[in-house]
Amino acid sequence: MLNIVLFGPPGAGKGTQSQRLIEKYDLVHLSTGDIFRANIGGNTELGKLAKSYIDKGQLVPDEVTINMLGSEVKKHPDAKGFIFDGFPRTKAQAGALDELMSEIGSSITAMIALDVPEEELKQRLKKRAEDSGRSDDADPKVIANRIEVYKNETAPVKSYYQEQNKFYSIDGLGAISEITDRMFDTVEQIK
Ligand code: ADP
Repeated sequence: MLNIVLFGPPGAGKGTQSQRLIEKYDLVHLSTGDIFRANIGGNTELGKLAKSYIDKGQLVPDEVTINMLGSEVKKHPDAKGFIFDGFPRTKAQAGALDELMSEIGSSITAMIALDVPEEELKQRLKKRAEDSGRSDDADPKVIANRIEVYKNETAPVKSYYQEQNKFYSIDGLGAISEITDRMFDTVEQIK
């Protein structure tokens, strides 16, 4: 299996690049943000709970997120591999993901990080708020909080994969297709 963790701060382009990776390698895309938003749209119990955190720019609690991700993975027993987009976002989630992968007889192949400067991220999120209508992109205070949470809780996840020699970083600036080419080069190296 090819199991990739796509990593990067809010606005780094994980969703856009995931789409291209799943097409090329026939992978299942699991975006925790998308799954939470689908639950919010469907007004499920999980959605109501997630919304109370997302609207403040906070992380949904680990236990809730880990259980949800586990049940999503198990819906795809024949997958050739997964792209994890927006997960793991804490070290506890990273540990849980390793356990989950070993339960299905597999492992994480690599983490690929999209490297984008903070000023550019703020610009992109502002633009996305105009196009997508995502409420967590509209409020500068919520964006600032997400970037803080990223620095404090999510950035340390990088070292978790570095310690296993599974960390790769690519330049996330430039045309979408140029970034895609860099991603493909990296995947070809590691697969
Ligand atoms: P972005 O990367 O642009 O912040 P996402 O769509 O990945 O957007 O996530 C939106 C929100 O969903 C996050 O700010 C967080 O509140 C919640 N969320 C997504 N993934 C996780 C996760 N792995 N753990 C906890 N909360 C999460």
